[in-house]
Amino acid sequence: MTYLHKDISGNVIDLEVGKAVCIGRNYMDHINELGNAVPTSPLLFMKPKTAFCDFSSPFPIPQHQGECHNELEIALLLKSKLTNASSNDVLAAIWGVGLGLDLTLRDVQQSLKEKGQPWERAKAFDDSCPVSNFVPIEQFSDLQDLHFWLDINGERRQTGHTALMLTNIVDMLCVMSRAFTLLPGDVVLTGTPKGVGPLCVGDHIDASLVDFMTLSTSVIKE
Ligand code: ZN
Repeated sequence: MTYLHKDISGNVIDLEVGKAVCIGRNYMDHINELGNAVPTSPLLFMKPKTAFCDFSSPFPIPQHQGECHNELEIALLLKSKLTNASSNDVLAAIWGVGLGLDLTLRDVQQSLKEKGQPWERAKAFDDSCPVSNFVPIEQFSDLQDLHFWLDINGERRQTGHTALMLTNIVDMLCVMSRAFTLLPGDVVLTGTPKGVGPLCVGDHIDASLVDFMTLSTSVIKE
């Protein structure tokens, strides 16, 4: 089914679906769990629009490519263009806030890392970016005080608090917009806290952007 951006009531938002721009290694606890180095400048990567699917509906994971890991992240939907943005400009460019899963083929990524190759095969495959409906930005007083969590089969796997980001949302959007233009309909994924691990077909998933939304879904075969 073709993915469309939707608001919290399930109405389609009039923004063309664009790309996902993502930041890696933005929470210290996740850097430590994978034994990665702390980046000296933000680590950025992208997913194409074919990566998007609806997080609140059952979503598929690739088979026979090793472990496919959950990375629950705060997702930002953009409503205006950002190029070389300054910190005064960026908040006005956000349509709303939701949840995204940066699905990652961890074994594939490990082998790409060892060869010094780009990560697209591990992170940009079809349906690698389930995203929730979006809550309008007007409903948030502080984007750096959002709590979120992910349960797999009733057990808490991830808890996050945006206060713990290494690069905050305003700085992140500035840095991204200097690397490549962000367009209306693009989605920014803001990094995962610790608790990444393998997903299996049949897993039941609950995820929450605390005080704003909770969703229930499951993992299905491709
Ligand atoms: Zn991620």
